[in-house]
Amino acid sequence: MNKPIAVVTGASAGIGAATARHLAAAGFHVVLGARRLDRLAEVAGSVGGDAIELDVTDPASVEAFANRVPECHVLVNNAGGAKGLDRVDAADEQRWRWMFEANVLGTLRVTKALLPKLIASGNGHVVTVTSIAAIEVYDGGAGYTAAKHAQSALHRTLRGEFLGEPLRFTEILPGMVETEFSAVRFDGDTERAEKVYQGIDPLTADDVAEVIAFAVTRPPHVNLDQIVLKPRAQASATRAHRTG
Ligand code: NAP
Repeated sequence: MNKPIAVVTGASAGIGAATARHLAAAGFHVVLGARRLDRLAEVAGSVGGDAIELDVTDPASVEAFANRVPECHVLVNNAGGAKGLDRVDAADEQRWRWMFEANVLGTLRVTKALLPKLIASGNGHVVTVTSIAAIEVYDGGAGYTAAKHAQSALHRTLRGEFLGEPLRFTEILPGMVETEFSAVRFDGDTERAEKVYQGIDPLTADDVAEVIAFAVTRPPHVNLDQIVLKPRAQASATRAHRTG
């Protein structure tokens, strides 16, 4: 196989699926991981990539997944999300545990498993999709913002630890992106999820994927460390201009 290989986690939907498409268009052979294999296979089929079942919260699943990746030039740590919007005094530990498992430990596990192959590629690149929740806090968001702050700290630590190795590290921090994110956060309550994007032009998954593809296609000596992107109408996690 002559094409460089890009691994995208959480590639069955949203930003991950769009990233798989954009990286394939940029010349990568894409390996896609997520839990819903039917949806994953559909995305993989459309880009000529490989769909491999992956649950980043399960160490055995991550190990089996990594063993099936022959080489790795780019890893996009994208799998993750939020559960609930509960104040700290009503925090549900199970939801917090899921957020830490998926966003923080998931990123740790997949990155750790693929680092040897990323280094061996001679020009490896780790992209981690955190969020503006990695640099802000908001009421009801502590479980998610704590997890995203931790995921960001993990990612930025790698930048220092692997200085001198042929590895680049890019953190992507999106604001509001219209995907299945809010439906997942609100346990499938689509009416509540739709309200999040009401009266505003949110980012699309493609907007974020294009930025990821831009970062990984820079020359090897150029490292885009952190990229924050938000809709024009969103100033922060708590301030947006809405029409209607
Ligand atoms: P999405 O549409 O809900 O997609 C999430 C993806 O993650 C799905 O493909 C899902 O696939 C996968 N995933 C979830 N848990 C997983 C697990 N345990 N193992 C493997 N894959 C898993 O949401 P999205 O907006 O694209 O989110 C992608 C990333 O962007 C997340 O890290 C999220 O926190 C971040 N982000 C989103 C926004 C936003 O406003 N949408 C803003 C900033 C940051 P399966 O269910 O098939 O496993």
